[in-house]
Amino acid sequence: MTEHPSKITAIVGAQWGDEGKGKITDFFAGEADYVVRFHGGNNAGHTVVVDNKTYKLHLIPSGVVYGEPMSIIGNGVVVDPKVLLDEIAYIKEKGIEPKLMVSDRAHVIMPYHIVLDGVLSGHQGKLAAGSTRRGIAPVYADKMYRNGIRMIDLLEPEIFSEKLEKGYGFAKGLIEKSLGGTLKITQNEIFDSYCSYGQKLKDYITDTALELYNAHKTGKAILFEGAQGISLDVDHGIYPYTTSSNTAAGHISTGTGVSFRDIDRIIGVVKAYLSRVGEGPLPSEINGGNAHMLREKGNEYGTTTGRPRRVGWLDLVQIRQAVRVNGLTEIALTKLDILNGFKELSICVAYEIDGQKIMEMPASLNQFRKSIPVYETLPGWGDLPSDILDSGYDALPSTMREYIAFIERAVECPVKIISIGPQRHETILR
Ligand code: GDP
Repeated sequence: MTEHPSKITAIVGAQWGDEGKGKITDFFAGEADYVVRFHGGNNAGHTVVVDNKTYKLHLIPSGVVYGEPMSIIGNGVVVDPKVLLDEIAYIKEKGIEPKLMVSDRAHVIMPYHIVLDGVLSGHQGKLAAGSTRRGIAPVYADKMYRNGIRMIDLLEPEIFSEKLEKGYGFAKGLIEKSLGGTLKITQNEIFDSYCSYGQKLKDYITDTALELYNAHKTGKAILFEGAQGISLDVDHGIYPYTTSSNTAAGHISTGTGVSFRDIDRIIGVVKAYLSRVGEGPLPSEINGGNAHMLREKGNEYGTTTGRPRRVGWLDLVQIRQAVRVNGLTEIALTKLDILNGFKELSICVAYEIDGQKIMEMPASLNQFRKSIPVYETLPGWGDLPSDILDSGYDALPSTMREYIAFIERAVECPVKIISIGPQRHETILR
């Protein structure tokens, strides 16, 4: 189906997440020996449609629906063991025996992280990032505080008990004394249930960095699957309206132990328009008729939360940063079919801030709040010919090809994969 001269490929989001990374990963996963997640937790959501069956996954790499490749949850991922067990059961119910490994060094989301997440969101007011309240920010914070509990600890009751004492005490103090909340679950209850999760998961827990090192050495194909997108990266995104991890390709190395020198291909997934969940600046956001059309046609409702997503026109200022910061070798442009039938399409090429044209993402929230999108307008296209998937790129409407070429010129990166539907085969390669 596809040519894969390279052995290590990364797929990352170039916008706000929900770009269709799940579909693009699935497209490549058939020829991968390993599909690996390197950051985030069950705050991500991928939808993959294979043979008219829909799979919704939050934690396990979406390559798992293929059956064959090994799915790896790397050390940079944070794991809610209950969610992981539920997801394993969900996959089994669909008739797939998951081939899975979980890093022994991955940090564990504890019940107090989830409570803390809820209480913290209430305290951040206007600067709250719109957390999914799954404990992601507090578990990463605990990792940096060195209060964290790792997957390996669930298999070693004595160490686990010691670490839990410290982590539980810290969280309880924070929740009840500083933030005015309550933590009802006791330390003993957590200890018992998490030891039991550990036992259920023990066959999956291993040194995944070593596994990947050996896999690479013996010429195995590895696919890295990013979650969320570059504007949610905790360093390069619009902080503090970001997620709590690095979404950029650079984090693959620290989040899995595979050297960045070994990555051959970095594919940025770009949705042909824009959507995001949560708060924060979104210069090319639109409301009204076109927004309604994009949201309904594109089914822009969160996979994890069901929240309606904010929508807008494609923002090339954002994509320019995504190309640069991730070192993208190519773009996969998704959901072009959702733009079918629009008479005209706007593309944001720059921001105007205080009368000045700005081509790159500002660090200043103040500047972001003042950003006015500078648009170019391109002609749209109608319905796609029914034989389009057999005929390939040259058979696409000329105005669609112009839209693609415009993006390539503006961000200096080739669009090599074009997606015109949710199904695996609804994909055109160039
Ligand atoms: P991800 O988190 O980046 O994988 O994105 P989501 O799974 O949240 O959202 C992508 C949605 O769009 C899923 O429902 C996909 O099945 C669907 N999708 C992906 N590519 C295309 C496409 O080219 N056209 C259409 N119509 N849907 C697509």
